[in-house]
Amino acid sequence: MTLNIGVIGCGMIGQDHIRRITDVLAGARVAGVTDPDHDRAAKAAEKPGAKVFDDAQTMIASDEIDALLICSWGPAHEEAILPALEASKPVFCEKPLAPTREACQRIIDAEVKVGRRLIQVGFMRRYDRGYRAMKDALDAREIGAPLIFHSKHRNAEVPADLYTSDMAVSDTMVHDFDVTRYLMGGEITRIRVFHGKKNSKGGDLRDPILAVMELSTGGLATCEVSVNIGYGYDIGAEISGENGVIDIAETNAAVVKNGSAFHGRVPADWRERFITAYDLEIDEWIRAASKGGATGPSAWDGYAITAVSDAGLEAARTGEAVDVRIGEMPDLYA
Ligand code: NAP
Repeated sequence: MTLNIGVIGCGMIGQDHIRRITDVLAGARVAGVTDPDHDRAAKAAEKPGAKVFDDAQTMIASDEIDALLICSWGPAHEEAILPALEASKPVFCEKPLAPTREACQRIIDAEVKVGRRLIQVGFMRRYDRGYRAMKDALDAREIGAPLIFHSKHRNAEVPADLYTSDMAVSDTMVHDFDVTRYLMGGEITRIRVFHGKKNSKGGDLRDPILAVMELSTGGLATCEVSVNIGYGYDIGAEISGENGVIDIAETNAAVVKNGSAFHGRVPADWRERFITAYDLEIDEWIRAASKGGATGPSAWDGYAITAVSDAGLEAARTGEAVDVRIGEMPDLYA
């Protein structure tokens, strides 16, 4: 069976997912697209030969569409997810699930009402070889219980006119929140955000920032976000445990040695760094959606991360430690 996917939002990541479904992966086709910019949608529809729908609601309701891939901006996610759930159609939703806890709660309530998981959220680091190897080593008890997680998230640069200080938490650090929960288990319960000496390249931007988090397991986590660091897109992760340390490996496949030095490549951006993780993430979603379900990061994960992001934003503004407000996890996500 070929899964007929409808793509909502044909911007940067929407176009990238259309490319991977059309050129890289098997078992699915992009059957429909929609975007407020009709010309953008028409261009995105060309290669897969997809139908251009006037709006998301018509596409969600169409018999020609089996599953939805939501790549619109965060505030538009809920209005697409709820009717997709009504129609019992599997959904892949790019992060964030929704930008407020209240909207995430409405989505969870709707999925719980359906009674089975239909939503997968786009936290692709869980599909990265490095993070998976860290998790395997943890599960094999190679360092005993994990105690402290250190995450580093470094961008070469961000557009000065588009990127705000809040986005360092709500757009960038959310991926680190996700792998903190994925690797360390439990929930992030409290967060404090420090900003010290600024990178002069960012103007008024609070950059870098450092978050310190407390976890429900009793463990701790730190996360540095630096978004104008110049040299490349560099992701770091290290776990200190009772009997050792697990570090994520460098990604360069070869090291060049010359002139009394050695060199390896640092990825230019997140697309290069996580290209195979995105492929695997969408591949696994296609398989689960073809059976009418979902896998990987759930709506509960999306809700929990929005809750941490809310607390992180308040912590960044106030300089205080802020408790994460999170409700009871429904049995569906146990
Ligand atoms: P983008 O380039 O701005 O694309 C978003 C597209 O969605 C635009 O074409 C936009 O049209 C369209 N759109 C807005 N509202 C819509 C609606 N109601 N129905 C249909 N289309 C709508 O943004 P992007 O960088 O692709 O990001 C899209 C989403 O993916 C965001 O939630 C972002 O956080 C997420 N993302 C995730 C990752 C990751 O690593 N997992 C990476 C990048 C992005 P207009 O421009 O006309 O509004």
